[in-house]
Amino acid sequence: MYLVADINVEICAAKSCKLCTQYCPEANTIQYSEDMGKEKGFKYGSAYVAVDRCKGCAQCVWVCDNMAKNNAIKMIMIDQLPLAAVTDNIRYEEKSTVVALSNPMIVIGN
Ligand code: SF4
Ligand code: SF4
Repeated sequence: MYLVADINVEICAAKSCKLCTQYCPEANTIQYSEDMGKEKGFKYGSAYVAVDRCKGCAQCVWVCDNMAKNNAIKMIMIDQLPLAAVTDNIRYEEKSTVVALSNPMIVIGN
């Protein structure tokens, strides 16, 4: 077992600055979903982590705590996650960038 980043949707969606998505060193690991916050009644969406790509560096925790001042991300043992998103599909297109899709949140553990 190992540590991965876990983003609290309620805390993130109150600020929803997307800073962590820019600083994570692993491409396509922190994603952003408009629906994830709005479906809980927030005005904004939330960042979330594709846990199969997370390397456990905790840089996003530092960014959220110290730059965003929002404390929405904690490191958690992967088997303790109540819900997780995993990478579903990555396409490398001829002229443009990588497209990564994470599937909806799934229940792991338990
Ligand atoms: S840095 Fe924090 S508040 Fe900003 S999007 Fe990431 S988790 Fe949300
Ligand atoms: S712990 Fe590191 S690799 Fe994992 S989401 Fe945060 S910044 Fe990215």
